[in-house]
Amino acid sequence: MKKITIIVLFYLFSSVTYALFEVQKIADNVYALVGELSQRSKTNLGNNSTHGVIITSAGVVLIDSGASYLGAKEIHKAIQKLTPMPVKIVINTGGQDHRWLGNDYFQKLGARIISSSKTKIDQQARADEQIARLNILIGDSLKGTKPVPALETFDKKMQVDFGGINLELYHFGAAHTVGDIVVWMPSTRTMFTGDMVFNNRMLGIGPAKDSQSWINAFEKMASFKPKHIIPGHGNVSDLLFATHNTYDYLVFLKTKISKILENDGNMLDASKIDQSNFHYLKNYESIAGKNAQWVFEEMEFDD
Ligand SMILES: [Zn+2]
Repeated sequence: MKKITIIVLFYLFSSVTYALFEVQKIADNVYALVGELSQRSKTNLGNNSTHGVIITSAGVVLIDSGASYLGAKEIHKAIQKLTPMPVKIVINTGGQDHRWLGNDYFQKLGARIISSSKTKIDQQARADEQIARLNILIGDSLKGTKPVPALETFDKKMQVDFGGINLELYHFGAAHTVGDIVVWMPSTRTMFTGDMVFNNRMLGIGPAKDSQSWINAFEKMASFKPKHIIPGHGNVSDLLFATHNTYDYLVFLKTKISKILENDGNMLDASKIDQSNFHYLKNYESIAGKNAQWVFEEMEFDD
């Protein structure tokens, strides 16, 4: 615990808050924009998420474009506080609204938009559903939002060499969404994980609802031994902290549900699992029970 506290403090010291985001510096020219941990709202413009910014000699690489047109504009404003360079590449790490509904804004500014092929299909399939939900949650703040799925795609791995920076993009299988990818920056040992890692707040098993695949994908990500994790939600951290917040929770749920299934237990037993070891994660009250039910459904089906 002591180690985790020290690391969190270090990152707080090297951060400033601008507009909707706390800007956390990871290395020279590498930043995280950390949004709110709570639900999408009119004031956060749907950006209850963390985004990555890499400034190169040829322009900016942005990891995840925000949940709305106005949300993308706000991300752009935060970037403009860091550099006058234009955003040239946007990478969507998954199919959730905050990963891609700002694509239209950045595409109009001339950016390339990259994702996995599975994410592009996911974006196309869930666009209407996401817009409908955001209409309820953020209302007027959705103004001007036009869903534009990624334009360049890859299946498993893509190398992006740009402005003197080398990035490796990997799709290891479904995690939070079916097409989730990670972005590996070897020169700073930084891993941009998108929704594969939730820090400081409790993850949701859906939409992919494949916790075993998420566990496997996390292990592949962790095998790179990253020094810095820029998560999909919450603060920048080391791998240990991300593992506690995401991987350990997934393994905990699967282990508990396995025992229930071995004893011919049911969904009600799943909802009674004591998850209080993870109560420190924000949104614990609203999502812990649902997660147990989802993993139960998934594992019952697997049997
Ligand atoms: Zn997310």
